[in-house]
Amino acid sequence: MHWDIPSPELMREWGKTLGQALKPGTLVYLSGDLGAGKTTLASGILAGYGHAGRTKSPTYTLVESYETARGPAYHFDLYRLEDPEELDMMGFRDYLSSQSLCLVEWPERAAGLLPAPDLHLSLELCLPDHRITLFHASERGRACLPGDD
Ligand code: ADP
Ligand code: MG
Repeated sequence: MHWDIPSPELMREWGKTLGQALKPGTLVYLSGDLGAGKTTLASGILAGYGHAGRTKSPTYTLVESYETARGPAYHFDLYRLEDPEELDMMGFRDYLSSQSLCLVEWPERAAGLLPAPDLHLSLELCLPDHRITLFHASERGRACLPGDD
């Protein structure tokens, strides 16, 4: 399955629709090159999930936390992860509870250390349109996706 999403605004909208359908305890991987739109998509997902305010990119902090009406949501960016031990030090496992939504940019940096995702979305910058390709979705993850096109 793939979607062509030609603007940041539409990327955010697509994320919002997805975020509305996601349940607490869902793990989403966001793959794609720098500039492909992962953070834009994550901010839409967080808005749809119920976070009303602004979102920050976790590029330097590794993780940003949000309290939403549906419980905690965590947005990771593992691009700067240098040593897998950093994940343990930040208490990564505690974030992955059944109560929280977890979005992970650059999951490849922690390959083998993270559980399998419910949804794995890969973003490709193929001008003029960005494209989202579905890599993997559990049955639960697939049920949340916005309509195919
Ligand atoms: P990443 O987190 O993958 O590095 P960003 O979300 O920071 O990427 O987006 C990089 C740039 O691309 C931003 O300027 C953003 O507004 C823009 N962008 C995001 N999604 C799209 C899209 N679907 N079409 C066109 N531009 C986009
Ligand atoms: Mg980013």
